[in-house]
Amino acid sequence: MKERTENILRKLVNINTTNPPGNEMDIIKTILGFFPEDIAYQIVDHGNNRGSLIIEIKGEDEEKIGFIGHLDTVPVPDESSWDYPPFDGVVKDGYMYGRGTADMKGGVTAMILTALYFIENNITPPHTLKFVFTADEESGGIGVLALRDKGLLKDISRVFIPEPTDEEIGICEKGALWLKIYAKGRASHGSRPDLGINAIEKLYEYIYRLKGTMDLEKEHPLLGKSSFAINMISGGVKTNIIPERAEASVDIRTIPGIDHDEILNEAYKIGKGMEEENPGLSIEISIENNRPSLSIDKEDGFIKDIVNSYKKLSYPVKFKGLNFYTDASQLIPFHNIPFVILGPGEENMCHQRNERTSIESVVRMAKLYIFYIINS
Ligand SMILES: [Zn+2]
Repeated sequence: MKERTENILRKLVNINTTNPPGNEMDIIKTILGFFPEDIAYQIVDHGNNRGSLIIEIKGEDEEKIGFIGHLDTVPVPDESSWDYPPFDGVVKDGYMYGRGTADMKGGVTAMILTALYFIENNITPPHTLKFVFTADEESGGIGVLALRDKGLLKDISRVFIPEPTDEEIGICEKGALWLKIYAKGRASHGSRPDLGINAIEKLYEYIYRLKGTMDLEKEHPLLGKSSFAINMISGGVKTNIIPERAEASVDIRTIPGIDHDEILNEAYKIGKGMEEENPGLSIEISIENNRPSLSIDKEDGFIKDIVNSYKKLSYPVKFKGLNFYTDASQLIPFHNIPFVILGPGEENMCHQRNERTSIESVVRMAKLYIFYIINS
């Protein structure tokens, strides 16, 4: 299994699916090449050489266990700084190096190995298996959104997200709320700030008022605290002109129990209040990204069965919370099904230079998926 794992993963790494532009259609052809021609599959075309793929394996009953993995990767900002070329799939000391090895072509490889196991051994799984390979997870999520909106995911009754979790059982992930805030005031000469409305100062005040309404101290046992970061800011034209315009981008990450709608309500309320206090000032907010946090109870039957599989395979049982969001955030709030984020590779390798994953880890996770399915 190890050699095959290495070969599949290398073929996936060889295909550049850095997003933008993604080009996921290229890798879909490669994935289908691993399977016999009579496999049941569906390609959803998103245009511009982008697409998502669903492979289905019929089980003894109609209940469907889903696996959702993304095909795109983040870009490679500085190829020359890598120790090995990022698209060659060089293996050293049991690790394959390359963009996407951890996030998440390793997980996609484990999905492929799982599917092939049932096909090649002619084993009908107890439940139907649905392997979903999505485009554009690293950006707006066009893949999972298109599949969801077409109703292609609604028959899945429990789902694995094989993102890299250090092989730990991921039962929660942080939410993300990205806001862009525009302040428009009134320009005046730098010597007469009393005649203008300083957009930068008002924007600054706005952001700190908003931050002040959030509970950033509340702690989640696996995810820690929510966060609020001002990650882009611009405005003003000249040292001696009171600025008329300023804008900022804020990245808010939330733990379960913190409701994005409440944050947004505060955001609008504070904006309105400041506009009333400062006639002539306008504050506008646009939502750039809004994904709720997710969590599932350790006592949920799905998680308990996974823990049992871990024990049977003598894998150490450890729960994890993910700081980043996954495709699950676009799916779980709509379909409300049990989920787990669970896959090969190290979480802290995501998006890094010299990204790598252990081949053995991919094998172990594929074995876990297979064991779980057979005993489900
Ligand atoms: Zn990922």
